[in-house]
Amino acid sequence: MASVTLENVTKRYGEEVAVDNMNLEIEDGEFVTFVGPSGCGKSTSMETIAGLTIPTEGSVYIGGEEVTNLPPKDRGISMVFQNIALFPHMDVYDNISFGLRLRKYDQEEIDERVQKAADVVQLGGMMDRMPEEMSGGQRQRVAIARAIVREPEVFLMDEPLANLDAELRVHMRTQLQRLHRELDTTIVYVTHDQAQAMTMSDRIVVVNDGHLMQVDPPLTCYNEPDNLFVAGFIGSPAMNFVEGQATEDGFTSTYMDTPFDPTNYGIEPGQNLTMGIRPEDVYLERDTHLAEEPSRTYEAVVDVLEPMGDEIFAYLLLDEDVEASAEGRGEGQLLISLDPDTVIAPGDDIEIVIDRSDVHLFDTDTGQAITHDILE
Ligand code: ADP
Repeated sequence: MASVTLENVTKRYGEEVAVDNMNLEIEDGEFVTFVGPSGCGKSTSMETIAGLTIPTEGSVYIGGEEVTNLPPKDRGISMVFQNIALFPHMDVYDNISFGLRLRKYDQEEIDERVQKAADVVQLGGMMDRMPEEMSGGQRQRVAIARAIVREPEVFLMDEPLANLDAELRVHMRTQLQRLHRELDTTIVYVTHDQAQAMTMSDRIVVVNDGHLMQVDPPLTCYNEPDNLFVAGFIGSPAMNFVEGQATEDGFTSTYMDTPFDPTNYGIEPGQNLTMGIRPEDVYLERDTHLAEEPSRTYEAVVDVLEPMGDEIFAYLLLDEDVEASAEGRGEGQLLISLDPDTVIAPGDDIEIVIDRSDVHLFDTDTGQAITHDILE
């Protein structure tokens, strides 16, 4: 186990700034996931830790030692990537043990380590299988075992599940959590898939455009997003955003308003505000008692329903004049989550309340969060 520190790390490719002055401390034994849209700089950040890229500026530390200019092999790391490259002519045992044999470990130690690594990824009984005789998930587990046998201080994984089908991906998520528990090692993981980031990590590092947007445990990012980017990126379906302005008495917009005392939040009348409402924080009027701090009621028309089995997503129009946009998330539209037994049909006129204890307010101009509840 070892800590990993990025200190003022910047990586430029010509004019392009892939990573912009990143500061991050990953603790010993932590499972930390970089998440963000494609091209935001996740892989580049990881590559500076791996030693596959030298930062243009700044320093990288592993276990307190500066490694900024060290080659990957001297950093005490192991890597697993999206593209699983097993040696096709070698069986599982030979694939897993290849690195140890190359480094001339003695046979007994190799056997012991390979067996232990294979057990961790539950491939113990498959040592003489050839890669072509295995499923994608099994091959990926061989790749992970090959990384484990090196007993690294830090494990680096870049989209290791991207090539697997959805079912296997979910299965491997649990496997990786067990792996982390059993190895008790530091894991730095990269994915664009927020479900992987949310489910496995101690903390997630949300990146956009080369910048750190938030570094926090997954549920903190979900419940208390620091800014509009994190609010919109974490959570599926995404948070509803309602753009409006501050008045002397609260928030106003074309279709929604909320009274509060702006001075309680340091908000100036006239300030551009965005209200953020998660689909699960909206209730039908008859369920008002379920909301901790119910708002006034709003009228809405049901546009489209998506029954998911365990819940129903309802796309609402907040006024009959609202023109529904294709994705159902434009101005005057609201996506809410309902109990699966709700009797409801497209075209229904309904009344809803919003739980003010879970309403977020953002400064539209800076994108920064102001509050995660509106209580007074
Ligand atoms: P992510 O992993 O989040 O998809 P990357 O870290 O791969 O993003 O890339 C960040 C940015 O840096 C992108 O705009 C990408 O085009 C650019 N970039 C990455 N690697 C190189 C490279 N070797 N040469 C030039 N530009 C690169």
